[in-house]
Amino acid sequence: MADYQFNDARFHDPEAARQYLESVRWPHGAICPHCGAVENQYKIDGKSARPGLYECGHCHEQFTVTVGTVFERSKISLDKWLFAATLMASSKKGISSKQLERMLGVTYKTAWFMTHRLREAMKEGGTGMLGGGGKVIEADETYVGGKESNKHRSKRNSKHIGGVGKQMVFSLVERGGKVRSVHLPSVNAKNLRPILNEQIKDAAQTRLMTDGEGQYRLVAPMFASHDVVNHGAGEYVRGDAYTNTVEGYFSILKRGIIGTFHHVSPQHLQRYVTEFDFRYNNRETRVKINGKWEKAGLNDAERTTALLKGISNKRLTYRRTNAAA
Ligand SMILES: [Zn+2]
Repeated sequence: MADYQFNDARFHDPEAARQYLESVRWPHGAICPHCGAVENQYKIDGKSARPGLYECGHCHEQFTVTVGTVFERSKISLDKWLFAATLMASSKKGISSKQLERMLGVTYKTAWFMTHRLREAMKEGGTGMLGGGGKVIEADETYVGGKESNKHRSKRNSKHIGGVGKQMVFSLVERGGKVRSVHLPSVNAKNLRPILNEQIKDAAQTRLMTDGEGQYRLVAPMFASHDVVNHGAGEYVRGDAYTNTVEGYFSILKRGIIGTFHHVSPQHLQRYVTEFDFRYNNRETRVKINGKWEKAGLNDAERTTALLKGISNKRLTYRRTNAAA
């Protein structure tokens, strides 16, 4: 976390935090969350006004930077939100609510609420599909949870992961690109098709790699080609046919879920998976350009900014206004 100075005022002072959040959400000035206007937004100063209050010169509604975001109506101060967002965006294996409780000096319930709100902000709606001309997609599924034989008898019937019935996570990774993961009861052609149609553009131009045929053979005809690496027969790499990318992703996911969160109820698993997808999709990488390695992707600070840009659930329409409108 070298990008951060946790002694920065925004992590301790609610007003500094508000100004910081405004600079991230509104780099070109306040935007009305009610009507979407970007001009004629007035800051309301004065003793009786709430801090950070604005009034829209068009619809005359009042708002602050948190209206329409996952922070709205929260009693938790913004400096604590920024601290939590920074930790979650920068910790490779995630931060547990228990850890956040200790670091922020809030109750466990508050910390739990905060981490789930921030996971909402990590949802990447409409950030582009995977695949396309010449691209390679690796698809695989994994089970998340501990070994049944290692569980204490009283926990065997627990509905938590690690109890009866491990939970399945299915992931699609574009080599050199992004991941999309879904918590599924099982993987079959029937539930794979809608996911593939939604996530993969131009499948007919995209190569598919899996580690076994099974259900994937049934969806393979929609792809340009399907290479299978037969792990069961001890085969892991054959030319450029391998699934190491998606397996690398699973290893981060599993170490995070086991090491950081210990157990996750099936009801919430998708949110945790979304969190790991977010960090992977906004990871810092290196690419070779003209024989030289260059930094690419996002560093911890940039990834936190990406998270803070996601706190707005509303799709704001940026309406430009003028005197004639
Ligand atoms: Zn307005």
